[in-house]
Amino acid sequence: MRIAIGSIVQESNDFSPVRTRYGDFDFVFGADAVERHRSAFTEMGGFLNVLGKTSHKIAPLSAGWAVTAGPVERRDFSRVLSEFQKSLTRVRRPDAVLLALHGGQTAETVPDVAGHLLAAARSIVGPKTAIVATLDLHANVTRLMVQSATALVGYKTYPHMDLFQTGQRAAELLLRTLSGTVRPRMAFYKLPLIVPAENMQTTSGPFARLMDEAIRIEDQREAEVVSVFGVQPWLDVPEMGCSVVSVTDNDPEQGRRQVEKLARGFWESRREFAVKLTPVRRAILESLRADEGPIVISEPADSTGSGSPGDSTGLLKPLLQLGRYVSAALFIVDPDVVKKAIAAGVGATIHTSVGGKFDPEHSRPVRIAARVRLISDGRWTWQAPGYNQGVETSMGRAVVLDIGQMRLLVAERPTMTVDPELYRSHGIEPARMRIVAVKSPNGFRGPYQSLAKQVFLVDTPGVSTPQLKTLPYRRVPRPIYPLDPRLRIQWPNS
Ligand SMILES: [Zn+2]
Repeated sequence: MRIAIGSIVQESNDFSPVRTRYGDFDFVFGADAVERHRSAFTEMGGFLNVLGKTSHKIAPLSAGWAVTAGPVERRDFSRVLSEFQKSLTRVRRPDAVLLALHGGQTAETVPDVAGHLLAAARSIVGPKTAIVATLDLHANVTRLMVQSATALVGYKTYPHMDLFQTGQRAAELLLRTLSGTVRPRMAFYKLPLIVPAENMQTTSGPFARLMDEAIRIEDQREAEVVSVFGVQPWLDVPEMGCSVVSVTDNDPEQGRRQVEKLARGFWESRREFAVKLTPVRRAILESLRADEGPIVISEPADSTGSGSPGDSTGLLKPLLQLGRYVSAALFIVDPDVVKKAIAAGVGATIHTSVGGKFDPEHSRPVRIAARVRLISDGRWTWQAPGYNQGVETSMGRAVVLDIGQMRLLVAERPTMTVDPELYRSHGIEPARMRIVAVKSPNGFRGPYQSLAKQVFLVDTPGVSTPQLKTLPYRRVPRPIYPLDPRLRIQWPNS
């Protein structure tokens, strides 16, 4: 049989002032897509691993990944969609389709990109062909996705460590479907609920309990796959909300009970997701006083993994005032400064304003005098186990600036800051720093676990703030928790 595989993965932030462009996806097609993912710990890597052991033929479509940002521009999304349709049409009646999607991606005119792509695939391959798709744990699952796909399979971990395994599970489910061993049937429960990502880790706490229950159901073979989706809260779309999806072997009643029970557990634990943030000055002072470093200070409100522009000076500014002579590694996006530093050359001193330019509503530029330490092409390869491990990524061109003992990594474009390799690839060793700054709600915890002596999540303004009530939602369905804190759900007696 011939199985078409592909990936289009991006998370969107509808509040971000920066739109996503076609070029941000770094698309590769056909054999190049296989080449990129063959030994990568991605969903596509998992597809290839499982299908490679069978006699089925693999028909690769395309593979693209973009860092989280604002919605994809209208024309750019039309190009993404039409290329996807063309490549799937070219396969000519595949026997099945395996797709890696995010599920929390939007385009300027499309609030549900994954649903749109799945519906497009369905209309090309017809109603009988199996389409199995993987989704990020932060997916906003919609009715269109559930109607269009044969089965949806979500990550089980946050920080996300199981992209590869999710790909494997989806491919294995597809093989069982093709052989007739399983007749997948999905059950879906949508909650009027959004929660911040900071307390959604699957190692402990409320979300870990839900995931343990999902895994128990799978282990007992009561369902093929059970996924709990804690939607990332930066979407402003009409069908917004956390959800649960179960795929049973044609047992809709069992599936309904499973998703209802998990959804109820999710709802009842909603208050446990509230986040405690530390005032930024206090976090810096405590880091300076601590016996040993490195201390990781994260600025989730400017998380590049959550679609913020990555140019907030919310931490940089007080750090320059309070900790100038302390070793610290920081990342910031500022294409103008990169250009200036490259023009000045390594060893030169530049006087300039950095950051606070993309989102002036939330932070302002800061004046610096800095020595140019290093100039690079900004390409680096994920090393930490889990997320995209083994995949090369780009942040445009980049420079490292020395400001006293601070190392400021400045890039033309955002990149995710969760992997210490971001700094290491640019000659900065986080283990030797007193303070290591990241811009992430949670994803950094796994990769930095063995390094960080302490972690602070600081309270700075930005478009990925966990203070959800301050975000300018306009299109989410109401009532929804926590915007409508007194909302009640009537659960059926079970
Ligand atoms: Zn995620």
